[in-house]
Amino acid sequence: MSKQEYKELEQLYTDASHWSINAGDETIHAKRIAGRFRSYKWYASSLWLLFFITPYFRWEGQQAILFDIPHRQFHFWSLTIWPQDVWMLSLVLILLAITLFAVTAIAGRVWCGYFCFQTVWTDWFTWLENRIEGNPIQRRKLDAAPWTARKIRLKLTKHSLWLIISILTGVTFTAYFTDAYQLWVDYLSLQAALIAWIVLASFIFFTYVFAGFMREQVCFWLCPYARIQSVMVDKDTELPTYDLARGEPRGKVHRNASTEQKGDCIDCRLCVGVCPTGVDIREGMQEGCITCGMCIDACDSIMDKVKRPRGLIRYASRKELNGQPLPAVFKRPRVITYGIILFLSTAGIIYGLTHIPPVELSVVHERQPLFTQMSDGSIQNKYTIKAVNKTTQALKFHLRVTGLDGVDVRMPDGDIITLQAEGTIPFHVFLRVKASQLKKKKTKIRFILESFDTIDKMKLKKRSVFIGPAQ
Ligand code: SF4
Ligand code: SF4
Repeated sequence: MSKQEYKELEQLYTDASHWSINAGDETIHAKRIAGRFRSYKWYASSLWLLFFITPYFRWEGQQAILFDIPHRQFHFWSLTIWPQDVWMLSLVLILLAITLFAVTAIAGRVWCGYFCFQTVWTDWFTWLENRIEGNPIQRRKLDAAPWTARKIRLKLTKHSLWLIISILTGVTFTAYFTDAYQLWVDYLSLQAALIAWIVLASFIFFTYVFAGFMREQVCFWLCPYARIQSVMVDKDTELPTYDLARGEPRGKVHRNASTEQKGDCIDCRLCVGVCPTGVDIREGMQEGCITCGMCIDACDSIMDKVKRPRGLIRYASRKELNGQPLPAVFKRPRVITYGIILFLSTAGIIYGLTHIPPVELSVVHERQPLFTQMSDGSIQNKYTIKAVNKTTQALKFHLRVTGLDGVDVRMPDGDIITLQAEGTIPFHVFLRVKASQLKKKKTKIRFILESFDTIDKMKLKKRSVFIGPAQ
């Protein structure tokens, strides 16, 4: 190894010695301070209150949002999604994923910092911890202190409140799958179904452990999104960034000492102290940063105190820091691509929602045998018809077949089909025709279901074939 190579390697080791990986060895007690981004975080997390109250909304006599697994239906206000319409779910998932990608490309892990249930629940848990056990210094002291009546009281209060939030989270989640009011009755009278208890127990456990103990470690080691987000950001992405050129060389401010040679960073480490994931943003962008902006609030408060301009840590892109012009958001190829996919999936969902047929029909031609030659010489084909009534009223239909002259339609229960509200019926239909009527082996036909007894007449058509012997 040459002297130069050795020097480079030595430099590499020196640089690497500054890196620190938060492996969860000690609990991070982040300081909470007021500021712009702290307020944004509260506003964003308050949206999660909707999660807790939505299951209790009623609409047209039933739960407004309900995943009715036994009946394989999803109720969303006056809309009912059936398994046949589940293709829309894939579009919704694409829409959510692309929204996440687009937001990450523009402003980094905004989802993680402000909306993710893991960081939001952790924030609520640590807020309670702060109220009960005091600020980070007091909390560390309490953790290290021997067990006294005061310590037991404080810890008991904190863990009880954490458990209450975990229980509420579990009950609320389960309430999206069954009648929310009845669920409370079932839980309180210990009559709930086994699966309801399993879901509740799992949610209590994971909420309590993830938000109370593992906290940022979930983001570091368990969350797949944290792993892939680096491929979504580029030089134009605005992220909480330390302005190296302005801040360095950092150093403490001493009274009467000259500050001419120093940068604006006074090395107070408040930005590190408020970081919920224990990141020192001054070391550059790191995997642990969830772009919550708490370090921006912290540094701005310090800049105000030392009478220097705010923004030593600010949302900025790499291009911006290098003095390059920033392209308009809508001119970035990545954002344009995400925008197109977003538009298409939104259009698909709107189309799907406005075109959900109230009744669906499927016709399957019997394969074994393809046809039957009857004793009078006529040819018979058998079909299995499945009709799904997605409306909330019973519907009556006539069935007729076109495309084959002289066809005789035979159904076991007469020619009127009654579809119960939100019901599915499969039934068999036999078509019989004189052999002389058949011009070819395969004749294209059409089944037509026409409603009667309802104000809005419905007509459903389905193509099929009638098969006979080779001509
Ligand atoms: S470095 Fe700043 S923006 Fe990133 S997680 Fe820490 S406090 Fe939030
Ligand atoms: S809060 Fe600002 S001044 Fe204090 S250490 Fe961080 S970057 Fe430097």
